[in-house]
Amino acid sequence: MFFDVPRFHVGGETIHATGFHEEWGGKGFNQAVAAARQDAAVAFLGAVGAVDSKPLKEFCAKEGIRAVLAVKKDATACAAILTDGTGETRVTVYPGAELEARDVDGFAGAIATADILLLNNEVPEAVNLAAVELAVKYGVKVFFNPAPARKLPDAIRDAVSVWTPNEFEEPAIGDVTGEVVTTLGAKGCRIRSTGEVIPAPPAKAVDTTGAGDTFSAVLAVRLAEGETLREACAAANAAAAEEVAARYVMPSIPRRR
Ligand code: ADP
Repeated sequence: MFFDVPRFHVGGETIHATGFHEEWGGKGFNQAVAAARQDAAVAFLGAVGAVDSKPLKEFCAKEGIRAVLAVKKDATACAAILTDGTGETRVTVYPGAELEARDVDGFAGAIATADILLLNNEVPEAVNLAAVELAVKYGVKVFFNPAPARKLPDAIRDAVSVWTPNEFEEPAIGDVTGEVVTTLGAKGCRIRSTGEVIPAPPAKAVDTTGAGDTFSAVLAVRLAEGETLREACAAANAAAAEEVAARYVMPSIPRRR
């Protein structure tokens, strides 16, 4: 939930917001939407509180996403983001409903039939591990967006074929057998194996939230379609550059043209 406020609170003050926006989010979810808007067949596994199950299912259906939602006792994870007149933000995050390793069982069929399993670190490690195990079993490629940065077990590190960190997350990955494509903000991205930098098209950045998610998803879709790594990087840059040019995430993730 996004609130535009003229200034931040002092003491026990109540302030009237001048703008409000609400959208579904989270890294994995943003990535699912970005991939679906590239016309990929997407299945998404997530956790929600009971009241959000139906509306989120409906939203996913509209986006063409097959959603497998684990309904939890806790409320859906959410954040309140206050932005003042200078653009500074104050964010409150409620971690809320979280996936558990056993929830992956209901997603085994989706993994088994996929070209790519795309993971991120907003999900507990045990969940990613369970998903990686299935991907390895079925010979499915694993892509990993290591955000937020954290140490990962070898069982995950050894299974990943493409990593998509940003510049700050890259050092945490270290030496891996898979390819590493590091996003460089306005500069585009760098392919570790060749050292090549693929530039992003110029964009007027308004809100970079979701840029990395759009990049990871588009890269995965284009590589699954058989594009070369350079082609896929260029497409991912183009989509992410478009994404940063508008506020929020859902309204600004581009559709394929
Ligand atoms: P994150 O938002 O995850 O930290 P980056 O800031 O590296 O990741 O941005 C991800 C991608 O978004 C970049 O690789 C690039 O393609 C695109 N991007 C981000 N900022 C800009 C910008 N100012 N102009 C053009 N493209 C951008």
